[in-house]
Amino acid sequence: MAYIEPAPIKDKENPLESMMERFNIAAEKLGLSDEVYNVLKNPAKQVIVSVPITMDNGKIKVFEGMRVVHSNILGPAKGGIRFAPDVHLDEVKALAAWMTWKCAVVDIPYGGAKGGVRCNPREMSQGEIERLVRAYTLAMINVFGPDKDIPAPDMGTGPREMAWLMDEYSKAHGMTVNAVVTGKPLVLGGSLGRTEATGRGVMVSAMSAMAKLKINPFQATCAVQGFGNVGSWAAQLLEERGLKIIAVSDVSGAYFNDKGIAISEAIAYRDGNGGILEGFSGAEKLSSPGELLELQVDVLVPAAVEDVITIKNVDKVKAKLIVEGANGPTSFKADKIINQKGIMAVPDILANAGGVTVSYFEWVQNRLGYKWTAERVNRRSDRIMKEAFDSVYVTSQKYEVPLRIAAYIVAIDKVAKTYNYRGGF
Ligand code: GLU
Repeated sequence: MAYIEPAPIKDKENPLESMMERFNIAAEKLGLSDEVYNVLKNPAKQVIVSVPITMDNGKIKVFEGMRVVHSNILGPAKGGIRFAPDVHLDEVKALAAWMTWKCAVVDIPYGGAKGGVRCNPREMSQGEIERLVRAYTLAMINVFGPDKDIPAPDMGTGPREMAWLMDEYSKAHGMTVNAVVTGKPLVLGGSLGRTEATGRGVMVSAMSAMAKLKINPFQATCAVQGFGNVGSWAAQLLEERGLKIIAVSDVSGAYFNDKGIAISEAIAYRDGNGGILEGFSGAEKLSSPGELLELQVDVLVPAAVEDVITIKNVDKVKAKLIVEGANGPTSFKADKIINQKGIMAVPDILANAGGVTVSYFEWVQNRLGYKWTAERVNRRSDRIMKEAFDSVYVTSQKYEVPLRIAAYIVAIDKVAKTYNYRGGF
């Protein structure tokens, strides 16, 4: 019998509530009207589909897929697709809203969206994943579109999945439509610089924040949680700029070396070891992975999942600067203590916006039918990230709020102004 697995209950603060609490504070500081508040509070569209596919054992299994468009006020909706066993609607709603704010902070002409499929890609064969991507794409064929809603990779998906999505969408339309999705392999119209873009933006944000805090990168230590695409690129680029990366972690555990971990060696080891760091000899394994967040470092980069810095461990965080590579790694309740402790936190909607920025460049190149050099991509995305940081920093001083609330203020102000120009019914 085909069945839909129930969503497991998470022992975490609800990311949607965390997002809304910050939104409420920023809306209040900004003096946002009730009318616009109500427009921005709820997602514009929520689509839930059940996706049956034939598994390798010949049995049909039904997966739950969703796509939430939070807003298309600034332009077509944009955001990744998450494949994870515990993905749930509130999480996708929060992630979709974060995409709206993220695109607005870096001033690119997109609204926000996010997709999710509840599945465990680590336990699926390549064929099963391909069938799932294609079936999900067909189920969302009227949702996606290069001028409507443009997906991209997120946790559990990457260029391979984006290639299948682009192919399925193109077949359904009888023509090649590469601008329907970003984060594609290079040969299919992917952009140079897209793979490292999120980690690179984390690095630019960290360098900007360190300059404000007068931290010398050549004397700074750093811990990076998450050694996937975002974390490993952030670690590598920060190491290149002089920081000593003393700890990294992934699903297999946290690894520590007070002399500094050679990041290129860790990446090479991971790539030859089924994608995980288990057994890496360039560092010692910490007894619990959570210890990484509590290390005495200058810079902490949470680049894994949401809700890792919470009321339960925030007291023990010793970093001077937190740069959020992941979406929603800090819960709302932890914000207050971070601020009381005088820790600067560069929020997710600013720090990890380099990914969607280069996604935008990919879409622009697809529409131009042209290819930019890596040098052009990096120069332009670095400039956008630097300008976004400066504008959030100035706003934080003007409103006397932490960078996180300032980033929401910048974003909400932009979306609200655009909404007021466009008008409603
Ligand atoms: N999933 C990434 C994010 O959360 C990238 C989204 C995109 O490029 O559209 O920012």
